[in-house]
Amino acid sequence: QSSITIGADHGCDVVTVGGTTASPVIMAGPCSVENREQILSTARAVKAAGAVALRGGAFKPRTSPYQFRGLGLEGLHMLAEAREETGLPIITEVMEPDMVEAIAEHADVLQIGTRNMQNYPLLLAAGRHSQKRPVLLKRGFAATLDEWLLAAEYIVAAGNPNVILCERGIRSHDPQTRNVLDLTCVPLLHNLTHLPIIVDPSHATGKSELVPIMSRASLAAGAEGLIIEVHEDPAHALSDGRQSITPTQLHGIVGEAEVLARML
Ligand code: PEP
Ligand code: MN
Repeated sequence: QSSITIGADHGCDVVTVGGTTASPVIMAGPCSVENREQILSTARAVKAAGAVALRGGAFKPRTSPYQFRGLGLEGLHMLAEAREETGLPIITEVMEPDMVEAIAEHADVLQIGTRNMQNYPLLLAAGRHSQKRPVLLKRGFAATLDEWLLAAEYIVAAGNPNVILCERGIRSHDPQTRNVLDLTCVPLLHNLTHLPIIVDPSHATGKSELVPIMSRASLAAGAEGLIIEVHEDPAHALSDGRQSITPTQLHGIVGEAEVLARML
């Protein structure tokens, strides 16, 4: 597996994902940046809990146009301020090819979401942009592994080799979970590609109570890291509160990850 370095260009902590020696990387933060206080306080809390990168959506792809769709560039600037204060590199979603340069200026990792996995103009823009930020490419919710790898290939072929794959669950028939977490993909991908693979147990399950155990399972399956939604007051989150864990729960997961890393 190859390793990908994040955070090298913004004077923040530098984090390595993948490779043979790196320990699993835990990225965490709210689904959405909601306001300045919320993101600064959550950033401090996830850092204290042991996360090494901060996630937060500023441009949100919401199923309904009437839901909160994020703070946009203002949210991105709040994330940059949170990085400044905590040293955590930041990861945020980009939805449009024309926004890639502007978001890459501030973000350490560009997230391409499940709904855009096969948005080829976006993949090409993420491959070509001048800063070559690592791209976190989430699996399309109905994508095969081959389709997903070919989507990654668009980014790489356009000039950016720094792609991190993220399994976030695929759609099935049972509403007990939001998606079905396909952990089989982790060992399969380790044989098919050199790209690191991380798991998002939050979107995969849709239920906060399932997040700790599926985090353990993901690491046991060999994932190079986790990206987890964390909120200090999940019941009042503007998006994805049902699947968001608290910083205290995150702390527990980080501790378990350290134990597992010694065993594996
Ligand atoms: C998210 O990370 O908040 C998100 C929208 O993820 P996905 O694209 O996996 O649904
Ligand atoms: Mn979310």
